[in-house]
Formats: sequence, structure tokens, C-alpha cells
Amino acid sequence: MAQLDTREKLGILADAAKYDASCASSGTAKRNSRDGKGLGSTEGMGICHAYAPDGRCISLLKILLTNSCIYDCHYCINRKSSNVRRARFTAEEVVKLTIAFYKRNYIEGLFLSSGIIRSSDYTMEQMVEVARSLRENHHFRGYIHLKTIPDADPELVHLAGLYADRLSINVELPTVSGLAQLAPEKSAEQIAGAMGDLKSAIDDQQDARRRYRSAPNFAPAGQSTQMIVGADGASDGDIIASASGLYDRYALRRVYYSAFSPIPDASAVLPLQRPPLMREHRLYQSDWMMRFYGYSPREVAAATDDSGMLPLDMDPKLAWALKHRESFPVDVNRATREQLLRVPGLGTKAVASILTSRRWRRLRLDDVGRLTVSIAKIRPFLIAADWTPARIDNGADLRLAITPKPKQMELFVA
Ligand code: SF4
Repeated sequence: MAQLDTREKLGILADAAKYDASCASSGTAKRNSRDGKGLGSTEGMGICHAYAPDGRCISLLKILLTNSCIYDCHYCINRKSSNVRRARFTAEEVVKLTIAFYKRNYIEGLFLSSGIIRSSDYTMEQMVEVARSLRENHHFRGYIHLKTIPDADPELVHLAGLYADRLSINVELPTVSGLAQLAPEKSAEQIAGAMGDLKSAIDDQQDARRRYRSAPNFAPAGQSTQMIVGADGASDGDIIASASGLYDRYALRRVYYSAFSPIPDASAVLPLQRPPLMREHRLYQSDWMMRFYGYSPREVAAATDDSGMLPLDMDPKLAWALKHRESFPVDVNRATREQLLRVPGLGTKAVASILTSRRWRRLRLDDVGRLTVSIAKIRPFLIAADWTPARIDNGADLRLAITPKPKQMELFVA
């Protein structure tokens, strides 16, 4: 491997980390102020944003320890057979970078993942060493998220949890058959076993902390996972079922969905095009429905079409409501919280405001309109003190009335 300086390594290893889904700051135009004109840059390497358990948005240095890998997962740009420039940080270099960025107030924490070099245990040891050194040698109190390697020694994963705030293990693909086809060196059983061990360790630690205040913390921000969308033939229904099973079995804090990006020199088993980004967005909305709006996975899956896909032109909550018109309209002045949460266009904050306000007075349609982005969207589903919607028996008519009208594209616009 050619000798690279830290800046070059950072460029390669921050870029390689962008495929991990827990960063929402990508996708904008490239600008910088290196010519001395202006201020700021959208090309800064390796800083992403995540949400702390208390809802705060925090900046993280997001990098790989190395983009070399002994595995050959078809969908991954860092796979063994990929023709990309390789780089590798030592544990000490990552520690130095983290501290330097932290002292300049660029970041509040570290997100560290890695390709697998030599063996899973060796790679995991290096990652644990980064977290250990930050915590023990530098008394670093910032946030640390480590991606763990499913077949690494459980003792190493346990050590990682003593230093990191959050641990994650990627399930990679929504179905076992997809994993077998696209990541043949990985084992669904091993991934499930590692996630189960992590859950037990987190449960044990929480139990110990309830009894002894001095019990050590273990991954206090829990565990999360990521699955790639659109690389295999899994439908949205399959993905919803898989995510719901993961939340139930492993008490995950989050499942991240990452739309598959075509990579250079891709394997012939991969699709040539990435799925629409809107698909990823709809899956996050379906995830939200299960976690915050009280829908069962079966109910969310009912929002899909005959091929098991969520509609792209409307959010899944609206799609569900259009298919279940017998559940509407609900009376904003009498409905339960659970019923109100199912009204398209009403979020958890709006519902909380409705429940508080209606203690003092009967709410009119305008009162509800002030709590939501689109009154047109909620009108057919609500009864208010001054409003009763007209009965529409035909779902297609209702859909037309509340979804934005399609616009004719102009052919000759520059
Ligand atoms: S093990 Fe991870 S880094 Fe290596 S090829 Fe597979 S997905 Fe990529």
C-alpha cells in the first residue's frame, strides 16, 4: 500500500464510510472556500450527524479504520475484488484525529466502522483499542458508536460495549436468501447470535445498574442495525416484516435503511440502477408508524400494493387510511389518542396539542389546521366542531382529492 498522509487517508476512509446509513448530511452541491473567498465548505470529510438518546443532534467523525477487506460482499465498494484505492489508519491515528477534531469543536463523537483485515478478531481488537485509548488515556467523554463484527470473539464485543455508547451489527439484507446470495461469507445465524448476545449484555447491564449504581455502563445508547434496500428482490413488505422482527427480538433502538448504490465494476448479480430514494424514505415512514403511531407490522404491510411495495406518491399512513376508510372520520373532540394518531397529517406533537387544547374548548377545523402542514390532507378524515366531511365511497376519488395533482414537465426548459 503506498504511503499516504493523514489527509489522503481521511479522504479515502471518510468517503468509504458514507455508505453507512446513519448519516443524513450528504447529497448537496460541492462548494468550498479554499481559494480564500467566502466561508465554509460542503466538502468537509467525515463529519455526519446523529441523534443522541435525548434527541440532541450531534456531529460525529465518521470513518473506517480501513477500507481493505478479506470478504467479498457483492454490494460493497470495499470488497476484496473491488478496484478502489485502499487506506488504513492505525488505532493511534484515529485517536489523534478524534481528539484533534474534538478540541477544535468540529465534532462531539466518533462513528467507527471497518473492513475486515487479517481476521475478525484482529479487526475488532483494533477498534476496541481506539475506544479504550480514547476513554482511558484521554478521558474522552464524547459519544462513541462502534460497528461490531458478528463473528468476532464475544469477549471483544463485550469490551467494546464497556467503552462505546452504541454498538451496531449490520444485518445487511432483509432476507436470509438475500444474504446468502450477496454476502456468501456472512452467516445470518451468526449475525442473529451476535445481536442476541448484545441484547443479553445490555439487559444484564441495565439490571445490574438498577441494583448497584457503581455497575459499569455497557452500550448505554443500545444497539442498532442497517439493511440495504434494493440490492436483492426483497419487497417493502419483506423489509417491514424483517425490521419488526428485529425490533421485537433484539430491542433495537433503530433500524436504518440504506438504498443500494450501484458501485464501479459491480457484480452481475446486482441491479444496474439504484432504487428510488423515495423508497428509502417511505420505509423510514413505515418504521415510524410501528415505533410511534401504534401500527402492527401486519397493518403497515396492508399499506403495500399487490407486489408488496409501498406507494411512492404518498406516505404509508395515508395509503393505509385510504384502504381503511371504515376507521374514519374520527371526531377530533372525542377520539382517543390512538385513533387521532392514525389520521394522516397528524403527528405525535399535533395529537398531544389536540388532547391538551380540547380539555378547555371544542376544537374547530381551523384549530387543527394550525397544527398541521396540509389541512386538505386531514379534512376527509376528521370531524370537528364546525366540520363534517362529505362521504366519499370511492377510494380513487378520495386519493385524487388529497394527493398533489401531477404536473406536466416542460420539455424545453434549460
Ligand atoms: S465485510 Fe463489510 S467491508 Fe467487507 S466486503 Fe463485506 S460489507 Fe464490505
